[in-house]
Amino acid sequence: MSDPGIVVIGAGQAGGWAAKTLRDEGFEGRIVVVGEEPYPPYERPPLSKEVLLGKEPAESSYLWPEGSFDLWGVELRTGVAATGIDRTAKTVSLGDGESLAYDKLLIATGGRVRELPLEGAALDGVHYLRGIDDSAAIRADLGEGARLVVIGGGWIGLEVAAAARMLGAEVAVVEALGMLCARALTPEIAAYLLRVHRGRGVDVRLGAIVEALTGDGRVTGVRLACETLAATAVVIGIGIVPNVELAESAGLEVDNGIRVDALCRTSDPDIFAAGDVTNHPNGLLGRNIRLESWENAQNQGIAAARAMLGGETPYCEVPWFWSDQYDVNIQLVGLPAGFDETVTRGERADGSFVEFYIKDGRIDGAAAINSPRDIRFARRLMQAQKTVDPAALADPAVKLQALLRG
Ligand code: FAD
Ligand code: NAP
Repeated sequence: MSDPGIVVIGAGQAGGWAAKTLRDEGFEGRIVVVGEEPYPPYERPPLSKEVLLGKEPAESSYLWPEGSFDLWGVELRTGVAATGIDRTAKTVSLGDGESLAYDKLLIATGGRVRELPLEGAALDGVHYLRGIDDSAAIRADLGEGARLVVIGGGWIGLEVAAAARMLGAEVAVVEALGMLCARALTPEIAAYLLRVHRGRGVDVRLGAIVEALTGDGRVTGVRLACETLAATAVVIGIGIVPNVELAESAGLEVDNGIRVDALCRTSDPDIFAAGDVTNHPNGLLGRNIRLESWENAQNQGIAAARAMLGGETPYCEVPWFWSDQYDVNIQLVGLPAGFDETVTRGERADGSFVEFYIKDGRIDGAAAINSPRDIRFARRLMQAQKTVDPAALADPAVKLQALLRG
């Protein structure tokens, strides 16, 4: 009987990179990638940026040109979901009735949008954004005379608000908390972004709770406590829920994501996991994290593939995120928690500055506005776990690469 090979569940960023890496690393057995969506593996960041703006076609987000998996001898099953994992028989059942045997299995099922159970949520013109079809549907609703209300002042909300303003729509953002991106940003950076959006004419409502969406067939308004905002379209961006159900019903350890070790191994030695769906240890941060980030999905997918082939290098990187809104580039490194001091380099008023978060003499994280070079060095300083002199960090005359060498 032929070797069952490796099955990858989830044809996203993590699953796609894992399959490619298996071949790059010389694995010659069978590889099957199962994806629920009707597309080859693609990356999502352009869907709220270039693709939503119409600057790039949706196909530009494909990780590799169509047909690449055929060339590499990887079987790609799109438009079909994996519906169950039998760990004893070592098989994965699919929604079309097929059953796939595996020697090793990778779960890279990512996440799905968190839904807001609101009256009116099923009206036409109410959108979430996770995939290519969502981005196209939102864009179609941003034509002449559009009045978009965005619910949730997180990354999706702010990027969609920026794109919609750039396309000429009237835009309001409704955020329940008193600041934007409260989980990811300090109050100072959040306040900076608030000024950016308000400066571009976005009506940002903080501390505002949506009571219902109104309309007859199609959405026409978003009802808050004291008023109703007119809307021709609504985008809801209130986070994601990790797709852990397959793992859970197979009896794998799940706790805010599928628990894996630094080699991406689940509680079953033949099953690995990677991407948004994992809760994994980060040696540099000294704690377990679940990261929703493009770079993590790619690099953990690569790390998982290597580990499946017997590699023993632990996956351990400084988390990194970016966002583009109008002409503002935001980059974040680390997941700072309980830091002692904030050091600012550059002037906020100039629209180009970095905040370093210092803990026990080292950089615990940094956030940069329009300062990509500085954030690269901040990341390297973190990765090297260098102790730093706050005065030197704050002094634009001191080059960060000198601190790295020092
Ligand atoms: P996913 O991309 O969610 O892929 C998982 C795949 O598995 C999906 O295609 C899903 O359909 C499939 N699947 C799930 N269950 C099954 C099943 N049972 N059977 C078969 N297939 C299944 N991150 C950044 O760092 N920077 C950004 O600027 C940024 N922008 C973003 C913009 C948007 C609009 C979105 C939605 C996300 C953005 N992200 C960004 C986050 C980033 O895209 C994710 O972290 C990344 O996509 C996670 O990759 P993943 O492979 O783990 O999961
Ligand atoms: P997010 O970044 O988690 O932000 C969700 C926002 O909605 C938060 O401000 C959250 O507040 C708020 N919220 C949660 N529940 C709410 C409720 N019931 N009512 C009103 N507001 C509520 O998630 P997202 O913006 O929806 O993005 C979805 C995914 O795409 C995430 O994985 C994100 O990382 C990814 N993404 C990333 C980027 C980027 O990195 N540039 C860009 C786009 C998308 P709390 O903080 O209180 O929960």
